[in-house]
Amino acid sequence: MSKPAPPPFRKVMVANRGEISVRVQQSLREMGIVACAVYSDPDRAALHTIKADEAFPIGPGPSHESYLDIDKLIAAAHAMECEAIHPGYGFLSENADFSQAVNDAGLVFIGPQPAAMRDMGNKLAARRIMEDAGVPVVPGVTEPIHDSDQAIAIAEGIGYPVLIKAASGGGGKGMRVVTASKDMASALERTQGEARSAFGDDAVFVEKFIERPRHLEVQIMGDHHGQVVHLFERECSVQRRHQKVIEESPSPSISQETREKLCAAAVAAARSVDYHNAGTVEFIVDEDDNFYFLEMNTRLQVEHPITENVVGVDLVAAQVVVAAGQPLPWKQEELTQRGHAIEFRIYAEDPSRNFAPSLGTVLRLRTPLGAGVRNDLGIREGYEVPIFYDPILAKLIVRAENRAMAIARGRRALADYRLLGFQHNIPLHRWVLEQPEFISGHYSTRFLEERFTAEELTRHMGDDELEAMAAALALIESGVGEAKVSTGTTPPPLSPWGTNARAAIGRRR
Ligand code: ADP
Ligand code: ADP
Ligand code: MG
Repeated sequence: MSKPAPPPFRKVMVANRGEISVRVQQSLREMGIVACAVYSDPDRAALHTIKADEAFPIGPGPSHESYLDIDKLIAAAHAMECEAIHPGYGFLSENADFSQAVNDAGLVFIGPQPAAMRDMGNKLAARRIMEDAGVPVVPGVTEPIHDSDQAIAIAEGIGYPVLIKAASGGGGKGMRVVTASKDMASALERTQGEARSAFGDDAVFVEKFIERPRHLEVQIMGDHHGQVVHLFERECSVQRRHQKVIEESPSPSISQETREKLCAAAVAAARSVDYHNAGTVEFIVDEDDNFYFLEMNTRLQVEHPITENVVGVDLVAAQVVVAAGQPLPWKQEELTQRGHAIEFRIYAEDPSRNFAPSLGTVLRLRTPLGAGVRNDLGIREGYEVPIFYDPILAKLIVRAENRAMAIARGRRALADYRLLGFQHNIPLHRWVLEQPEFISGHYSTRFLEERFTAEELTRHMGDDELEAMAAALALIESGVGEAKVSTGTTPPPLSPWGTNARAAIGRRR
C-alpha cells in the first residue's frame, strides 16, 4: 500500500462560507491538514462552521463587515495559526488586493499570483491580452466607451444587437442588450450606473451579442514549474439571467475537433499570463461552432465537481499542492474524460417569480443517495438561510457511463431530493430533464428564457412539497408565521406557483 504524501501545510483557513467552504474543508482533511473556517454572526450554526476543525468569528452578517473584510480575515488566519488561505469562489476569490495582502501577511494564497488576477480580473484588459495571444475574442472594442455616439458608431460597425458590458462585471450582472441606436444612450447610462454601484468601476464596453449561443468553458491548471494543463470542457448553457443553473461535461454539442481547439486556446490563454493554480477560460460558441473568448475566472468554479467526476481528480487537493510550490500532480497525457457528469445548482429562489430570492428555515432536508450521486451541501436542517448572501445552498452532481444514463440518474436523484421550508429550484431541474431540447443536447443559453413558464412547476413537485406549500399559504392567509414558513417574504407571498400548488394538491387528493 502506498503511503499518503506528507501534508504541504499544517493548517489552512477557508475564507468563505456555505457549500464551498464545506467542500474545501473535505479535501484539506483528507490531506491531513487542519481545516479552519470563518463565520459571520448569522452563520454561527451553519454547516461550514460546525464541520470545521476550528472556526473563527469575523463579524456581522453583511458581507463587507465579514466575508469581504480583508483585515479581519487575515487576523482570523493568524489567530488560528494557519499557513495558507483558500478563498473559495465569490467574495474575495478574484480580488488581487486580497491575494497580495495574504502574501504580505506571510501567508500562502491558494490561487493564482496577484499579477495574473489583475490581468484577467478586468474583461477589457483580458480581451487585449487574448487578442495578442491569438485567441479569438467576441467582436467589439478593447477600450472603455465614454459616450453614446461612440457606442452607436461601434454598434453600427459590428452590427446590432450588441451587448454593453461592465469591464469589472461578474455573476451575470452589469450587461445589457441593445438592439437599436435609439436605446443606446439610456442603456449605456444604466449599465454604467449599475457597474459603479455593484463593482465600484463604471468602465463599460461594447461587444457583439451572439444570438442563441452556447457557453463553454475549459478548466485549466498551472504550476510554478512552467506546466499548464487543461482538464477539458464544461457546457454551461442552462442559465437564468446570464447565470448558470445546470452544467455538464463533456459538452453534448461540440465535435472532437472543436473540443481540441477550445482546450488549446484555453492553455494558450493561461500561458499568456504565466498562470499558476486553477482557473477557467470561458467561451461563447455561435451556431456555426465559432468560439470566442468571454473571460477568465481566476479561481475554483462552482461547477468544478463535474470536471472532478469525469476526469477523476481532486481539484482542491491539486490547488493546495500547487500553492505549496509542488509540481502539478498530473501530466496532460494522463488526463482523459470518462463517462458523463451533470451538476444541478440548488438555489433558494422562486422560479415562478422570475427567480426572486426566497428565505426561510430548512425544515426538512434529505439528500439523494446511491452510486454516482454527489451532494455538495452548505445547509442543514434547522438552519435559517440568511438574507445576506448568494442564494446557492447546495449542488447535486450525478455521474454515469454516458449522457443518457446520467440524465436518468439525475431524474431519480432529483425525485429523491427532499428540501422543505422555502421555495427552491429543484422542481425546475426536474422539468429541464423532461425537455426534448435538453435531452437531445441541443440547447442554447436562451433555453430557459424561451421555454420555461411558471405553470410547468407544480407538475414537478412531490406531494410533500405541495402540501408544505399549501400549509404555508394557509398560514399566510391566516396572518401567522409569514416570515417563518413563507413562500418568500417580500413582495406579496401569493406566487402563481403557490396558487397552482394548492390547485394541484386539491386535484391529487
Ligand atoms: P460574468 O462575468 O457575469 O460571468 P460573462 O461575460 O462570463 O459574464 O457572461 C455571462 C453570460 O452572459 C454568458 O454565459 C452568456 O450567457 C451571456 N453573454 C455574455 N456575453 C455574451 C455575448 N457577447 N453574446 C451573447 N451572450 C453573452
Ligand atoms: P455530528 O457533530 O453530530 O457528528 P456533523 O459534524 O457531521 O455532526 O454535522 C453537524 C450537523 O450538520 C448534523 O447534526 C446535521 O444536522 C448536519 N449535517 C452534517 N452533515 C450533513 C449531511 N450530509 N446532510 C444533512 N445535514 C448534515
Ligand atoms: Mg462568466
